[in-house]
Amino acid sequence: MPSLCDSHCHLADERIRVDLAAILKRAAAAEVGPIVAVGAIGTIETDRLTVEIAEHHDCVYASVGVHPHDAAACDEPRLSELRALACSGKVVAIGESGLDFHYMRSPAEAQERALRRHLELAATLGRPIVIHCRDAEERLLEIVREVGVPPAGGVIHCFTGGAEAARAFLTLGFHISFSGIVTFKNAAALRAVVPLVPDARLLVETDAPYLAPEPFRGRRNEPAYLPRTLEAVAQLRSQEPAALATIVTANSIRLFRLPPR
Ligand SMILES: [Zn+2]
Ligand SMILES: [Zn+2]
Repeated sequence: MPSLCDSHCHLADERIRVDLAAILKRAAAAEVGPIVAVGAIGTIETDRLTVEIAEHHDCVYASVGVHPHDAAACDEPRLSELRALACSGKVVAIGESGLDFHYMRSPAEAQERALRRHLELAATLGRPIVIHCRDAEERLLEIVREVGVPPAGGVIHCFTGGAEAARAFLTLGFHISFSGIVTFKNAAALRAVVPLVPDARLLVETDAPYLAPEPFRGRRNEPAYLPRTLEAVAQLRSQEPAALATIVTANSIRLFRLPPR
């Protein structure tokens, strides 16, 4: 029975989609599941496909939104389409939305506007928000404090900030999710943050097909690689991997209100 939740990956990405059946089979063999598949990257087709995948696979759930890279395209028609997709019982979250001032693929103002709309949408729909934040922690905290955390809560996915930002997000009630980056040689600063997150707020994710953990770094990532990241996180927290898997999976089930397993 799958017992390690991948709280964030992109199953509709074409690199995964071409191989989806095998990838889900390997995930199950590695005891990875349930899986939260995030649309959001590219056009609304990605969200549609993600919801379709979730509806066809018991262990897959979906999150819909507009990635900060594409925030310039987050207009009213797109938001209505997201609202319509969220009618599916398999849509368990809104996002990923947020701020990415590292790549700055959409202007900062567009990213901020889209983030506000996503926070409002998550609150209206009673779903948690999935937040992407890269080199923008301070501004993101300001906006979230102003608009408010959705009542169903949220997660800062693929956390890459410092200790101070982690504490601020935790104070606001957010969960913090770590990806394969914690296994990278140059990520000592991030590893120092891992023990600061209380058990009840910790999640792990692959963010597949991106960010494969060591020793797979540079390859296409997939949910079956999640145990590598879990082991690294467990070691940094001096916890048993199996016990930590139970904790992070229970946290995902609670946050995303997945059916009990
Ligand atoms: Zn992201
Ligand atoms: Zn992502």
